[in-house]
This record gives sequence, C-alpha cells and structure tokens, in this order.
Amino acid sequence: MENIEELVRKIISDMQTGGNSSQSSSKTFSGNIPERARVATLVEKGRFEIQEYKLPEVGDDDILVKVEGCGVCGTDAHEFKNDPFNLIPVVLGHEGTGEIVKMGKNVCKDSAGKPLNLGDKVVTCMIFSDDPEITMFDLNKQNVGKADVYGLLPDAPDKFTGWFADYILIRKGSTVFNVSDMDLDSRILIEPCAVLVHAVERAKTTGILRFNSRVVVQGCGPIGLICIAVLRTMGIQNIMAVDGNENRLQFAKRMGADVSVDFRNFKGADALGQGVYEAFGGHYADFAFQCTGNPIAHANIYKMIRKGGGLCELGFFINGGDATINPHFDLCAKEITLVGSWVYTLRDYATTFDFLKRAIAIGLPIKELITHRFPLSEINEALKTNLSMQGLKIAVMAER
Ligand SMILES: [Zn+2]
Repeated sequence: MENIEELVRKIISDMQTGGNSSQSSSKTFSGNIPERARVATLVEKGRFEIQEYKLPEVGDDDILVKVEGCGVCGTDAHEFKNDPFNLIPVVLGHEGTGEIVKMGKNVCKDSAGKPLNLGDKVVTCMIFSDDPEITMFDLNKQNVGKADVYGLLPDAPDKFTGWFADYILIRKGSTVFNVSDMDLDSRILIEPCAVLVHAVERAKTTGILRFNSRVVVQGCGPIGLICIAVLRTMGIQNIMAVDGNENRLQFAKRMGADVSVDFRNFKGADALGQGVYEAFGGHYADFAFQCTGNPIAHANIYKMIRKGGGLCELGFFINGGDATINPHFDLCAKEITLVGSWVYTLRDYATTFDFLKRAIAIGLPIKELITHRFPLSEINEALKTNLSMQGLKIAVMAER
C-alpha cells in the first residue's frame, strides 16, 4: 500500500517537473519570497540582534529554505555565553528544518538519493570536507573528522548561514535530506537524536551491548533522555536512569527506563555504585552511557559497571576539564571496554529518521522533549531559558 502511494507521488512529481527542468535557470515556489529577510546575529556575548538583509542569489546548485523551526543546542548556549569558537558576529542555529522555496537547476536529489522538489521539508547535516558520497556509503568511516556546520560558520557576506533566521541558503557541497514524511517537532529533534544513534553504534562495537544487558544512562538532560529512547526502541529492556533531578528521572521512566537512581541520595562514588548495584537487584551494569558534561560524573560511572563491562562516554562535546580515575581499579582490574563518541556520521542521520518514526510508533513521548517555543524575535529569551536549565529542549519557531 505504501509503495503504491510512493509511486503515485513520484509520477505526479515527475509530471510536475516535466522532465525538462534544465530549460529554466532555477525552480521557484509559487508563494512569494520577499526581497529581504531576518537573521538573528549574535553581535556580542549574551546578545542577539535581529537584522534584515537582502536574500542571496540562489546558484545552480543551491537551495533556499524557508525556516520553520530550530532547536537550541548546548553548543549554541556556550557560544552565546562565552564565544569559545570565536565566531562573533555569527548567525547560529544548527538543529533546524524548513521548506524548499527555491532551488538551482542542478538540484534534483538529496544526500541519500531521494528526489528533492519545491515544497519538500528538509534538514541539513554537516558539510564534510570528504566527498559526501564516501561519508554516506563507506561503512568503515566512523569519525566525522573535519566538517563544517550551518549555524557555526564564520560570518559571510550573504549572511543566511544559520537556522536562527527566516531563510537559510544551502550551498553546493552541503548535505541535505528530504524529510517531508516527518512532522515539524520530529524534524527539529533529528540533530540531537543523531548524536545518540551514533553513540549507540559506537557502543555496539564493543560487543557488550545486548538485548538483555543491564544498561545505566547517567544524566537525564535531552541527550540522556534520547539515549534511553534509542535503547528502548532497539529492544533493550533493562535500563536505569541516574540523575539528581526528580522531574527528569520521572520523564526518564516514561521514555523507557525501568529503574531510576537519584545520586543525591548517596555520598561518594562507591556508595553510588553500591546504590546502582542494589537497584539492579544485586548486579552492576553490563554497559553504561555517560551523558553529562561533568568530569566527576565520568569518574563516578566506573563504580557502576561490572567486571568485563563497557562504557560509552559522550558527554563532552566541548572541553569540560580533566577527570580523575584510578586506572588500576576502574579500568585494568575490571577490564572495562571504553569507547568515546562525538557527533555523528552522515549515515547515522538517515538511521535517525527511522529511529524517530519507530520511537513515536511504540508510544515514547519523544516530542515532549520540546518544552519551550520562542519566536525568532525573542531569541535572547530562548537562549537565557536554555542557560537557566529550565525545561528540556528549547526551540525557536518561525512566526506565522
Ligand atoms: Zn547540536
């Protein structure tokens, strides 16, 4: 049934493009595109300014997208507060999605080979320095290496380089995916979910993560909560959430954790490890995911893992300082297999679309991760809300 629908849609879209699109220089949506549009520029630490610029020319390989919404990432919050990447002035926003309103004559398919048409809903992944085809299809390619990201690009003359804006210009050589079959909230969650799909792929390389593994997820911010959802969607049943916030632990249970441990009830790493042991009914974890950016949490987590167990550390997107562990007791004597995880590959992106659809289908409240929505004009409030640790995922939405 679904295949027939797809086929009909394809035939209709082929009829619409008429097969001779090379005649025209670009394809433009019938809806009107303004001459000028807004971007939110971070002009100094702690302050965005809404600025208006002329929309850039759309080249033969470019795509102009009308932004519908974009999540606020921890990275955005760091940049807003301290400019660690030295990017000011910068148009931020990399967890965005929107609708194609204009595209160059050479654009016909996305990075996975799916057709692209005006009106399609898209997301971008990174702009890889390697050939995107290799990044997509070489199964041995694990680490992203050097890559650029829309929303973290240096200031450019044509300005529309981030998703905190009315429009974004996706340039030649970028990666783009047609996600028209997903609703807006799901599309906003793709980027953070891809981080967890990648982390679980890294975890699987240890050979320790299995259906019946006892798994600890430490840290129940958006990343930890999505981690639980990915594990549950894969069919892993025995998941423990560890955090120090009761609301987050409650949400973790709705997301698929069946046990929770509040670390505030334990004094010291060994006591916490013992608490995990008891909550698992007299077992340590077979595998653990460390999802906080706190070095002490990294040191603590070894105490929760059994001999011969595994650990995936994914909490440190940026430098959070040094952690002190005891290499003898924590690593060698227990023969822990440790993997690090950072961002995602292009291939993980495509997997993420299926993950989100399945998570929603099995009833996980994944879309409830978006707790706050702000219009672009209130982007300063959006970032301050993120920094104040209120809510979970904050989104900046197009005004309509
Ligand atoms: Zn992000």
